[in-house]
Amino acid sequence: MPANAPNTLSIHEAQSLLRSRQLSSRELTQSCLARIHSLEPRLRALLAVCDEQALQQAGEADRILAAGNPAPLTGIPYISKDVLCTKGVPTTCGSRILEGFVPPYDATVIRRLREQHAVLLGKSNMDEFAMGSSTEHSAYFPTANPWRLDRVPGGSSGGSAAAMASCEALFTLGSDTGGSIRQPAGFCGVVGLKPTYGRVSRYGLVAFASSLDQIGPFTRDAEDCAIVMNAIAGPCEMDATSSPLPPPDYRTALKGDIRGLRIGVPREYFIEGMQAEVRRSVEEAIRLLERLGATVDWDVTLPSTSYALAAYYIIAPSEASANLARFDGVKYGLTRDGATAEEMVIASRGAGFGPEVKRRIMLGTYALSSGYYDAYYLKAQKVRHLIRAEFDRAFQSCDVLVTPTSPTVAFPLGSKLDDPIQMYLSDVFTLPVNIAGIPGLSLPCGFVDGLPVGLQLMANRFDEEALLHVAYAYQQQTDWHLRRPSL
Ligand code: GLN
Repeated sequence: MPANAPNTLSIHEAQSLLRSRQLSSRELTQSCLARIHSLEPRLRALLAVCDEQALQQAGEADRILAAGNPAPLTGIPYISKDVLCTKGVPTTCGSRILEGFVPPYDATVIRRLREQHAVLLGKSNMDEFAMGSSTEHSAYFPTANPWRLDRVPGGSSGGSAAAMASCEALFTLGSDTGGSIRQPAGFCGVVGLKPTYGRVSRYGLVAFASSLDQIGPFTRDAEDCAIVMNAIAGPCEMDATSSPLPPPDYRTALKGDIRGLRIGVPREYFIEGMQAEVRRSVEEAIRLLERLGATVDWDVTLPSTSYALAAYYIIAPSEASANLARFDGVKYGLTRDGATAEEMVIASRGAGFGPEVKRRIMLGTYALSSGYYDAYYLKAQKVRHLIRAEFDRAFQSCDVLVTPTSPTVAFPLGSKLDDPIQMYLSDVFTLPVNIAGIPGLSLPCGFVDGLPVGLQLMANRFDEEALLHVAYAYQQQTDWHLRRPSL
């Protein structure tokens, strides 16, 4: 791939070339498709590629660009995680049970991007139903990390993160229930944002845990993240949990001056067992923010953090066990085998769900069952309230909290597959954000053994601007986000 090929551009760079007609959307789309076809045999980030449809959409975008009134994302090629419904394009959620399912409608975010004439290139690989942290729980194949092909890209949006890092598209979309955007963004060295719960419509997102799920972008930098958020955020009448608050213009957050900004560093996020080099990179990043004029409180405390993982693994599986009940073998079934309805459901769910999904359904069904509900589910909800209250308190004296995204860099493929608890632990720093419903962003802040380190920023509800403000200022001073894997 030539270093300056169109597929390596940021959105903001491509926008001006498209508008001045120095580059066409068709050329840009062809460049991404060429990259996809040369790389996919090794990377395997995608479950579907829509060449023909993408070129057709690019042609339409070029007509709009020529007419002179494009939207911000007109002609920009992107990839969606395969958990979002795309009209006419297969949507599997990385599961056998949805193999061959072609949605008759678009998710709201996909519709909004279609209305701007962004170009959909394909659908990315993921852990089945977004349950996992490595993309190895995809029913189809694992995805490699573009920085080192023997490492995981993270998960569950690993395909979207790997595709973004390797320039298969100018931006990608993921979903984040407990870290599934930020952790893979960290492992692949790109920007990933989980918005505030309610900021982006979940209509057309296949539900995992409805009180935690959010859709968000993967981009090269903070500026592009603001551009995509401008397109996808905002109220939606098809999602009763989407906030009626009108979103701001996120680009106004890109100011570069963070003097006087109050940063907090919660001590519970620097734990025993984390990689020393990760800690060092994160502390260096915080010191840089301090030199840029932010005031840093190095001793913020969020004491309930240590209960977040346990609470999450009650709440998320409980909601999943209810959400996944709809895959009963009748409407989206895999098989029609069985003499009775019950046998058909058993055959379909038995063959259609992988081991991690079955584990979650069993955990959730158990936690919600009569006699155990109070001990598990209710208790977990109480912990959730404590965690929310602690964040509320922290944001009275801090604008942004800064932590590592994950305790380690990307781990070797296969190394945690047999040990679910070890896999779950890789999200220990990202889960509290979903539990509290606040926004979180990961951006690259260094490398260890050739693998990216992620810096996580958290802010108060509906203050994505604070995250973009800090990320933009940091990226004005550093070049981690400009490095590319040599694939
Ligand atoms: N890794 C976490 C889990 O397995 C989070 C997944 C996600 O955010 N979708 O549940």
